[in-house]
Amino acid sequence: MKKNIVLIAHDNLKDKMVEWAKLNKSKLTKHNLMATGTTGKLLSDKLKLKIKRFKSGPLGGDLQIGSKISEGKIDIMIFFWDPLSPHPHDVDVKALLRIAAVYDIPTATNPNSADFIMTSPLLNK
Ligand code: PGA
Repeated sequence: MKKNIVLIAHDNLKDKMVEWAKLNKSKLTKHNLMATGTTGKLLSDKLKLKIKRFKSGPLGGDLQIGSKISEGKIDIMIFFWDPLSPHPHDVDVKALLRIAAVYDIPTATNPNSADFIMTSPLLNK
């Protein structure tokens, strides 16, 4: 069954996200993909992924995604957030991670965790 998967990467982790998505492209294309603005643009430019884009994270993209989660419209979140840099939208990041926990959304915050999600037998149920 198709899942709604959202992809987000902070600036220092965008290369890692592109690399991870490239390795997982054949699996990702079986699902509905969404992303924050810049992450989505990179993924569609570099990998030709069909992906719905929200606003950039610092301009409200995280909050838009949080709102989609509360509406039951996101099944999986792959969010490579940067634990080593300060962010102007830190409160939005926190809100997004909080609402994902409230709604029990499978969330990967690094490539290894994302690999576990993408290889889970639950992915296609
Ligand atoms: P971006 O947003 O993909 O638009 O860079 C990600 C973020 O910084 O939250």
